[in-house]
Amino acid sequence: MKQGLLIVISGPSGVGKDTLIRRLLELDRNLVYSVSGTTRQPRPGEKRDENYTFLTREQFEALVKKRAFLEHANYNGHLYGTFRDRVERARREGRDVVLKIDIQGAEQVRRRIPDAVFIFVVAPSEEELKHRQEERGSESPQDLASRREIAKHEMAYAQNYEHVVMNDDVERAVREIRQIIEDARLRVT
Ligand code: 5GP
Repeated sequence: MKQGLLIVISGPSGVGKDTLIRRLLELDRNLVYSVSGTTRQPRPGEKRDENYTFLTREQFEALVKKRAFLEHANYNGHLYGTFRDRVERARREGRDVVLKIDIQGAEQVRRRIPDAVFIFVVAPSEEELKHRQEERGSESPQDLASRREIAKHEMAYAQNYEHVVMNDDVERAVREIRQIIEDARLRVT
């Protein structure tokens, strides 16, 4: 069986990556989301092994030593990583795997898997992004401020992605991403 694609989705905090990915998975049954490991605390409503596999720093570092992560990075003081076995198993089964990772992780994936599909999601405006970040209301004011700083740096990085998608409207943005995925599927067949 042909190996599945790897689809990397990045973008500033609060831009709506989770909503887009949820919708993509509803519409396309061949897509599978690779649940990452993280040392950050769960937000209210987040489920273990569904949103993230929540780990202690010790557990995370032991997994790094065992080379269990395809990539990993420190984002805003917490560690995040993609489990190599989750990605490889799904791709071997012919499923196309979606990763939601930051720009540092995307760089590592680019070096290891150059034929992955790289998509960067942007907000229609800075005000709109600020509004969405505040609306989520799950971060402390300090956390929100440092995420905004990181977002500025990340936005400058968008040009390194082959696809930049504006999340002005969820259904429209999802259609655009589905088209990118369809094109990539045709390219490999
Ligand atoms: P959040 O704490 O808002 O869920 O995620 C913070 C940032 O970490 C986001 O930019 C998200 O894309 C990124 N992230 C989530 N999982 C991973 C991962 O496995 N690896 C890397 N490098 N970044 C991740």
